[in-house]
Amino acid sequence: MDCKYNRVLLKISGEALSGGIGHGIDEKTIMSIAKVVKTVNDLGVQVAIVVGGGNFWRGASAKDMDRTTSDYMGMLGTIINGLALQTHLEKIGVVAVAQTSIEMKQVAEPYIRRKAVKHLETSKVVIFAGGTGNPYFSTDTTAALRAAEINADIILLAKNGVDGVYSADPKKIKDAVKYDNLTYIDVLNKGLKIMDSTATSLCMDNKIPILVFGIEDPQNIERIIHGENIGTIIKEV
Ligand code: UDP
Repeated sequence: MDCKYNRVLLKISGEALSGGIGHGIDEKTIMSIAKVVKTVNDLGVQVAIVVGGGNFWRGASAKDMDRTTSDYMGMLGTIINGLALQTHLEKIGVVAVAQTSIEMKQVAEPYIRRKAVKHLETSKVVIFAGGTGNPYFSTDTTAALRAAEINADIILLAKNGVDGVYSADPKKIKDAVKYDNLTYIDVLNKGLKIMDSTATSLCMDNKIPILVFGIEDPQNIERIIHGENIGTIIKEV
């Protein structure tokens, strides 16, 4: 079967790695995600992954802490997730390389764009950990930035507990409507909280499509690669 994309950037939130608990790492969940990544990588699709860190720490949630320090703590959380994903991918025979935006040479390669692209071209899976390396940013923004840097065809924005973008929170509002297509401007104007506005703007300026989908069933990633219409696509028109 044909693949719709050649190079994708998969964004996985920290929560998605926690197996529905919201904190920590659930190895079974990570392994099920790793297996789908292997399947699509075996199909010849180049896969880069940005991992979140909300299962450990979110900078803005600190009540009485310097925000910058708190954000660095969050970035470190993303690196824990990146290492976990790397080792689970390696366990099933995928050559995976974690790169960190904050230098940590004993632990992982530093982020070097040209190296990352080379890894992708030689069928390695690249994991971008550490966010952008800057406080006051998010891993969604990291996904937009890295996708632009590596020329990804699309961002696959994996969500937990929801299978796309809705007009309102479907868990609270019964008649919330799911969108199949949206423009970046729609997302910004309607104030849809699917990713932060910095990330949305960056995607808009660089014309990077975003596909929002549910990761509870990790097989969805394979379905997307084969061109199935699931989730919500956000693009220019
Ligand atoms: N973070 C940051 N700069 C970045 C990326 C992440 O400061 O470029 C910090 C921020 O504190 C954030 C935390 O890392 O709350 C975890 O990232 P995020 O909330 O995006 O993770 P997710 O919600 O995707 O699990």
